[in-house]
Amino acid sequence: MDFQKLVDLYGELEKTASGNKMREILSDFFKNVPAEDIAVISYLTLGQIASGFDDVVMGMAEKSVTKAIAMASGTDAAKVQKILHETGDIGLTAEKVLQKKPQTLVPLGKLTVHELFEKLHTIAGASGTGSQEQKMGILSGLLQKTSATGAKYICRIVLGTLRMGVGEMTVLDSLAIAYTGSKEAKEALEKAYNICPDVGIISETLVKQGLKGIEKIDVHVGRPIQMMLAQRVDELHELEDKIPGKWQVEGKYDGERVQAHKDKKGEIMLFSRRLENITEQFPDLVADLQKYIEAKEFVIEGEIIAVDAKGKQLAFQTLMQRRRKYDVEEYIKKVPVQLKLFDVLYLNGKAWLHVPLEKRAEQMEKFLTKNKTIVLTDRIVTDDVEEANAFFHTMLKQGYEGIMIKSLASEYQAGTRGWNWVKWKKEYVKEMADTFDLVVVGAYYGRGRRSGTYGALLCAAYNEKEDRFDTVCKLGTGLTDEQLAELPTKFAKYKVEHKPARVTVQKEMEPNVWFEPKVVVEVLAAEITKSPFHTTGWALRFPRFVKFRDDKKAEQATTVKEIEGMK
Ligand code: AMP
Repeated sequence: MDFQKLVDLYGELEKTASGNKMREILSDFFKNVPAEDIAVISYLTLGQIASGFDDVVMGMAEKSVTKAIAMASGTDAAKVQKILHETGDIGLTAEKVLQKKPQTLVPLGKLTVHELFEKLHTIAGASGTGSQEQKMGILSGLLQKTSATGAKYICRIVLGTLRMGVGEMTVLDSLAIAYTGSKEAKEALEKAYNICPDVGIISETLVKQGLKGIEKIDVHVGRPIQMMLAQRVDELHELEDKIPGKWQVEGKYDGERVQAHKDKKGEIMLFSRRLENITEQFPDLVADLQKYIEAKEFVIEGEIIAVDAKGKQLAFQTLMQRRRKYDVEEYIKKVPVQLKLFDVLYLNGKAWLHVPLEKRAEQMEKFLTKNKTIVLTDRIVTDDVEEANAFFHTMLKQGYEGIMIKSLASEYQAGTRGWNWVKWKKEYVKEMADTFDLVVVGAYYGRGRRSGTYGALLCAAYNEKEDRFDTVCKLGTGLTDEQLAELPTKFAKYKVEHKPARVTVQKEMEPNVWFEPKVVVEVLAAEITKSPFHTTGWALRFPRFVKFRDDKKAEQATTVKEIEGMK
């Protein structure tokens, strides 16, 4: 397919402020996409050239992209830099500069979607000496071969700032409508996506093999599975109704969730809760998994925590020091970690998702050699609320966050927040205080002491049913002066010109600046009240910033349904 067709689509999507309209435009477009292009187009529309977990990085800084624009247009790099300064956006800069291509630079023919995709991969793959020049050369060639508007989108893709407001769910919905004519297929697609969170594979399978092919998609070692999520209750005794049968009650740790995969060749990969490949951050853990888990192939899950010499859990912030690319060896010593293992999802050629938890737990006891770094979560089996409560207090005494109550008979429900897992944290016990993980969708300029930065952030919950972000509070308290000062820099990457299509807002709440819904914050609030000013229909009273939840994606935020259940 000619890339210009995609450029025209992006132009239309950019103008759209409604999620439904966006799906309509996308599904109409998908109807005419040839099977061999569908995967590529699905990735590009999300502003990517591979799925998020594939660890493909363009490796180009803004400066190199600016130089490539200069090369393509025969303009002086300083002039391009100046325009970038004025527009503040690499895409608009490319469009403006390339509007007037010099006569000598005759277009080299049509740029196809496939050629673009392959060349972008070559850019990502180039490394070592001379690679920056090589990357710039390829990019400038691409920019010459496309229209000025095409150049706008290509530059944004290269810098990871396409920001069209299209999410994975938007693509899946639109595919379902385009290829099956119905929204019902959405469920099958979502189910497959939970086991295989790769829109390229899903879209291609759907187009080539239909829903039958989609139903056959299974666990594949090396490809992360969407993680199972927990519900919450207001009172512990609700467990008796919510989870029939016996429960496995485990410690709940404040660390980083990890899914570890070991493939046939013996290679181990670690994925974060956002399904990013974090293997390189934890070589110590990889070595211990090799040593202490006896299995040829596996997919397991646990929580990584930072520990002191006695094995006592250290603060989440201490663990965050391990989130780094450099000085990894030094920090292995400075911040030793422990893995609290709680699940097995695949073992030696077979998916274990459908095996009841009781059996999965038994299996983990079998394959784990006793050691200090990889340990099973603290646990008891019971169906008695008092016993669970006593265990909760034991866990708090040991410095943990609370407990997880899991149905002993349950399957592992990938990507699902159901009643088979319930969390119970110490905040829930404090009267009228609850925490929410909310998505920042906008900001208001600060005044007085806060002038020059943002005074408050507009936060939203995720509306799962509609794949939307509905607002629920304006957040201004709880941030330190340092955090406040850093806000404009932290959010610069996500700034967009107008309201992202999947965000809903009432007129009264419109912020000064809009953000693509990406950043998740943990917020403590005293109460939930009805509100005409927020599109969830609810407002949080006295919201207070707790911390940034960089481990969560926007779609993993607290849902509107959860808020309704908590009020
Ligand atoms: P929350 O982030 O508050 O929604 O709680 C769910 C998270 O708790 C999971 O994603 C895990 O990262 C973490 N967690 C801690 N301990 C456990 C456990 N024993 N079982 C499952 N998840 C746990």
